[in-house]
Amino acid sequence: MSEKPKVVKLSEEHIPEAWYNVLPDLPKPLEPPLHPATRQPVGPDDLAPLFPMGLIEQEVSGERYIEIPAEVREIYKIWRPTSLVRATRLEEYLQTPARIYFKNEGESPAGSHKPNTAVAQAYYNKKEGVRKLTTETGAGQWGSALSMGCNFFGLELQVFMVRSSFQQKPYRRVLMETWGAKVQPSPSEMTETGRKILEKYPDTPGSLGIAISEAIELAVQGDDVKYSLGSVLNHVLLHQTVIGLEAKKAFEVIDDYPDMVIGCVGGGSNFGGTALPFVKEKVDGSDIRIIAVEPTSCPTLTGGRFEYDFGDIAEMTPLLLMYTLGHDFVPPASHAGGLRYHGDSPIVSLLVKEGIIEARAYHQVEVFEAAVTFARTEGFIPAPETSHAVKAAIDEAVKCRESGESKCIFFNFSGHGYLDLSAYDDYLAGKLNDV
Ligand SMILES: *Cc1c(COP(=O)(O)O)cnc(C)c1O
Repeated sequence: MSEKPKVVKLSEEHIPEAWYNVLPDLPKPLEPPLHPATRQPVGPDDLAPLFPMGLIEQEVSGERYIEIPAEVREIYKIWRPTSLVRATRLEEYLQTPARIYFKNEGESPAGSHKPNTAVAQAYYNKKEGVRKLTTETGAGQWGSALSMGCNFFGLELQVFMVRSSFQQKPYRRVLMETWGAKVQPSPSEMTETGRKILEKYPDTPGSLGIAISEAIELAVQGDDVKYSLGSVLNHVLLHQTVIGLEAKKAFEVIDDYPDMVIGCVGGGSNFGGTALPFVKEKVDGSDIRIIAVEPTSCPTLTGGRFEYDFGDIAEMTPLLLMYTLGHDFVPPASHAGGLRYHGDSPIVSLLVKEGIIEARAYHQVEVFEAAVTFARTEGFIPAPETSHAVKAAIDEAVKCRESGESKCIFFNFSGHGYLDLSAYDDYLAGKLNDV
């Protein structure tokens, strides 16, 4: 038994007072987004129909720290600071000399890290007089987080939920509706884009790209309606840095420090939020390792090209310089719905390109095997997305067993899997394949 605590639970006053903005500390400046029609850099005016100025300013800010508004910190108190947990039982099971820690973002009411930005985005929209937000959601993690955020600030929310998920996964729709949002299966009759697609392909399962196009179309029609995105953009990663900042404080309390920081990557927000506060020391020459994990079925960082691409299939969004599989890439169905995006955050992409961040990919079955090992040792059942980070942490801990090194491995537990139990059912029944 170790004399150190199993769980470090900081008190409310340790919720960070500012988010950390990595932009001034990047090894190279980010290239600007380009306008979809003119291919010229987009300015604030181009983005104003979609986002409130408060968020547009954060997107390009040169300030290293950006104060968290008191109203947002007040809501963070519901579940923050989240626990930093030493996975002692997993360590014993693996017989590793490594020290494994995870930060439990599954403690939020929506069950993932996503409310960290949802609450902040709702706040800035409300402050600028916005009445209603629109957004898209795949399996519903983002839609449910934003539903909660909008509810707290009295904003209406229209969610376009990919039709196949709408039909197969009713529980997150119920979460969204419980928090007061309106949910439409996408494609829908509410938009021109939706009507056109339905006319041509009445039986389409829908896609995230189509749902994004619908949400944007509805947002640009009203002055008091805006659009909200749950990952990829700089301001989203900024809001998520509460994860890494709190982790640093918790490590200080127990007098330990990570040799490795690990996170799973869909659009890059939970990984960025965890890892970016550790990036400056890496840029300055520290040998800390920062590892991004993705599914082999959607290998954006490990198999994509680094180039300008659209965020959506209808080519309505600005072009971003990022690792991408192409905006018309449709990944095969897998249980890690939150990791099925064709592109990636420009910040994370640049850091991979510059060799600051390592990327690796895993197959679905090995990921579930790791998830079950984790559940049977530490109790918590990870989301399928999160399980990619769990798998990488276990692999690194096993390497330590082989080399005899006692490394400190830190990963972000981005969310729980209690609404993904059908995926576990498939795995336990031996019905899961590598796609
Ligand atoms: C959405 C989601 C992810 C992936 O999204 P990022 O933008 O890459 O953070 C990872 N884990 C969970 C639990 C999610 O809900």
